[in-house]
Amino acid sequence: MERPKDTGTKAIDSIKSSGGPRVLLRDLRQTMAESLGGQERLDKIVDLIAQNMGAEVCSFYVLRDDAALELFATHGLNREAVHMTTLRVGEGLVGLIAADAKSLSLDNAPSHPSFAYRAETGEDKFHAFLGVPVLRAGQTLGVLVVQNEARRVFGEEETEALLTTATLLAEMLATSEFEALIKPGADIDLRRPRSFEGMGFAEGVALGQVVLHDPRVVVRNFVADDVGHERERLEAAIRTMRVSIDDMFTSGDMQVSSEHREILESYRMFAHDRGWVRRLAEAVTGGLTAEAAVERVQNDIRARMQRQSDPYIRDRLHDLDDLANRLLRVLTGASSLFEQRELPDHAIIVARNLGPAELLEYDRSRLRGIVLEEGATTSHVAIIARSLGIVAVGHADHIVSMSETGDDIVLDGSEGRVFLRPTPDVEATFLEKIRLREKRQEAYAALRDVAPVTKDGTHITLLHNSGLVADLPALNETGAEGVGLFRTELQFMVASKLPRLAEQVELYKEAMDFVGERPIVFRLLDIGGDKVVPYLRSAAEENPAMGWRSLRLALDRPGLLRTQVRALLQAAQGRALKILVPMVTETEEYCRATGVIQREVERLARSGAPVPEKLELGAMIEVPSILFELDELLVHTDFISIGSNDLIQFLTATDRANTRVANSYDPIGKPRLRAIKLVVDAATRHNVPLTMCGELAGRPMEALALLAIGMTKLSMGPSSIGPIKDMVLRCDLAPIAQSIGAVLSGEDRDRNIRDLLNEWADKQNLPI
Ligand code: PEP
Ligand code: MG
Repeated sequence: MERPKDTGTKAIDSIKSSGGPRVLLRDLRQTMAESLGGQERLDKIVDLIAQNMGAEVCSFYVLRDDAALELFATHGLNREAVHMTTLRVGEGLVGLIAADAKSLSLDNAPSHPSFAYRAETGEDKFHAFLGVPVLRAGQTLGVLVVQNEARRVFGEEETEALLTTATLLAEMLATSEFEALIKPGADIDLRRPRSFEGMGFAEGVALGQVVLHDPRVVVRNFVADDVGHERERLEAAIRTMRVSIDDMFTSGDMQVSSEHREILESYRMFAHDRGWVRRLAEAVTGGLTAEAAVERVQNDIRARMQRQSDPYIRDRLHDLDDLANRLLRVLTGASSLFEQRELPDHAIIVARNLGPAELLEYDRSRLRGIVLEEGATTSHVAIIARSLGIVAVGHADHIVSMSETGDDIVLDGSEGRVFLRPTPDVEATFLEKIRLREKRQEAYAALRDVAPVTKDGTHITLLHNSGLVADLPALNETGAEGVGLFRTELQFMVASKLPRLAEQVELYKEAMDFVGERPIVFRLLDIGGDKVVPYLRSAAEENPAMGWRSLRLALDRPGLLRTQVRALLQAAQGRALKILVPMVTETEEYCRATGVIQREVERLARSGAPVPEKLELGAMIEVPSILFELDELLVHTDFISIGSNDLIQFLTATDRANTRVANSYDPIGKPRLRAIKLVVDAATRHNVPLTMCGELAGRPMEALALLAIGMTKLSMGPSSIGPIKDMVLRCDLAPIAQSIGAVLSGEDRDRNIRDLLNEWADKQNLPI
């Protein structure tokens, strides 16, 4: 084989003589300012790069939406190959760079196992090869390559220079600079429709436009006029950012929250990370403005993040990404994160994660949905989304960096799917789904004033689960009889500090005023476990679901409990009041809680203020232990309520917040349904009213199982009232109850409850 002549030194000299990356950037900027056609401009850009880097070849490949990398411009390869030559992602050296989002430098490209020869390019005579990914927000948009005939290794400095140039090309691509060069019927990958398999947090279908919760800072000026000045700007911004992180440590909320502290600690560590700061400085030295340098380094971080499966490393990279965003804000003076923003009419918030308070800050009249990269079905934000009827999907991996504010997006909260930039047929399918849903909603609305009575005459009481003033108005729309469960902890979860007595009184009073004559059950604070209230957090627990939580916490902190009871009594102003005690594990514990309530009533009476005309106290049945002391408990209770979410989690030893196991067991499988039936039977024996307020009550098939074992009061999210009432109205309950009874008693031993209910649903044409 002919030995290539050594032109390495010439190349290096040429870099020096043509002024290096800074001169290149300056020349590129000039080219961008000239009025040239798209192809002409691109040709000039590759000429300039080749010339500046002393390369014989410079080629620019763009990733299309069909996963092909198309040669868009070249200096040095056959011009006829432009817009003809394509490589698939992963194919050839260019495809490899696109797939890995990593640069590649080789002294003899044809000998690399991935080298794919394209005869039309005339590429075989070139040996030295340097290729870099063209990245934006961590996504590969294309590949930029320089080549030399001679064998030589392109050094780090040249890689840096090419990466810097690639940042500029990425921006040009993203701003549709080369729109006209795209063949009809094709598009660049950046705008490709994408779908995400996430997890449904709040059901429903929504179509709208992306609003990034943490808006990406747009960098407009890429090329530095004065490198020294940019260096100073970068240094000053880093200092400001460090100070702002230090300030957060000492600001009020952070002092007590260990989780936030941990995050801040890692921010602080990265903010002082020498490697990161050095890379930023290098990018500035290469001729980028300070903000363009941050963007460039952040691109690499994002690209790495998207290819990481280790959750720990991913979290750390996420932290770095957040930090880079913070720095960009300092540099560009962009608005702060949480400033209220104008929303489009059908806004869909896309975020890595969202706190409940942040969700509530958005204008709900315009908000159609939320998509998160993280979260859990039982997370607060999911609970709140459900109670407000906002469609929500979680675990949509990498969606933040792949979307832009304004992109069209479709959410399917029931299936947990997201379609970003949907194709017209996907959009049409979902529009149809929405129309169908609306029709169903209309049908449910028509049932609003129809009493929920089964065909054979059993009246079923349908109630709402609630917790915010914002979700109460739904009562008027669904026609539910009242509120079966008001989760008072939601107020605590969305606040940044402990709500004071007056604030609690205000909420409870507003709720009571709203429901008027309809019943409302206030559940005492049920915090801890998955219901995190950061400012009340004690030491980290190994297993918070079984830790210092709920009633245990309330009895340990009687001040908190007393304040809440006082607030409820004051808000009632003499009206009837129902209080529910959560997580009762044994009778004695329940009596201690009701003792606190009674003492508060006596105290109120002594003060001369009106006491409730009727005070009813109840217990939640959600810890298995109490199942074996029901006869003792029920003599003390005016009513009871089953919390199936917790009861089933503890009966089956499956964490309700752990998506991997949460759905492992059928909640109406025999053991669980028998446990619930124990409660139904005890309530009947003691003539104590019983409600089901866990999620089961809102799902038609499960609700039917509950009716079949004798439950007649169901409390659920507002959106479930329509479907459940529809099912109730069509159902002839007695024969179903009889056949389920036979299975539970063991008479009909080998039947599966769900199968049997399905048979009944077919027979009676029930919508389940
Ligand atoms: C339950 O546990 O079923 C319940 C209704 O309460 P929460 O979901 O608030 O724990
Ligand atoms: Mg519970």
